[in-house]
Amino acid sequence: MSRNSPGLAVVLLSGGLDSAVALYVAREKGYGVHALSFDYGQRHRKELDCAEMIACKSGSQWHRIRLEFPWKGSSLLDKNQAVPQEFSGGKIPSTYVPGRNIVFLSFAASLAETLGAGTVFIGANEIDYSGYPDCRKDFLQAFQTALNLGTRTGVEARGIRIEAPLIRKTKAGIIRLGMKLGVPFEFTWSCYNGRTRACGTCDSCRFRAAGFARAGIEDPAL
Ligand code: ZN
Repeated sequence: MSRNSPGLAVVLLSGGLDSAVALYVAREKGYGVHALSFDYGQRHRKELDCAEMIACKSGSQWHRIRLEFPWKGSSLLDKNQAVPQEFSGGKIPSTYVPGRNIVFLSFAASLAETLGAGTVFIGANEIDYSGYPDCRKDFLQAFQTALNLGTRTGVEARGIRIEAPLIRKTKAGIIRLGMKLGVPFEFTWSCYNGRTRACGTCDSCRFRAAGFARAGIEDPAL
């Protein structure tokens, strides 16, 4: 890292499109990146394979945490529940995982504090999204305050900043930014269903397809 480097950052990396772009934003800003992914009982391992590939391609360190939500509470985690195939239309869909970003950001903050990293990047977005409350700017700001009240670095040193560079962007805007930064979109996976090909009808597939269409770019993952 050069003398002018902003230091280390922890990036939450799911293997989806948004988190991949957030990682490349962090790299562009000169951070040394530790990417953090979770094997948390999601329906398929495809996005984890993508996360590993993206971390590797971008020259980042990759950490994978295995954890469980034994109570499930989400159609993403419970194989007895179907993932909705119709657009949720503003209501929080059953794919919401209770407390997911609270849990993930807590791990990211713990890793950041241990490494001496001052920044945690998250690809959260509150424009073209499914209405998950833990993806909103207000939550992220409040959580940053909580982190700095509850960590040693917050009390004795510079603390931890949560950066959500995509929070107010449209999906098309995120895709255009990713193209500019050289994000290998062919190695990102958005579909909630872990089939060989994306289903094309879940919320996540719909947002992705509409984003690529609006950006006027063909989705290299298809
Ligand atoms: Zn899908």
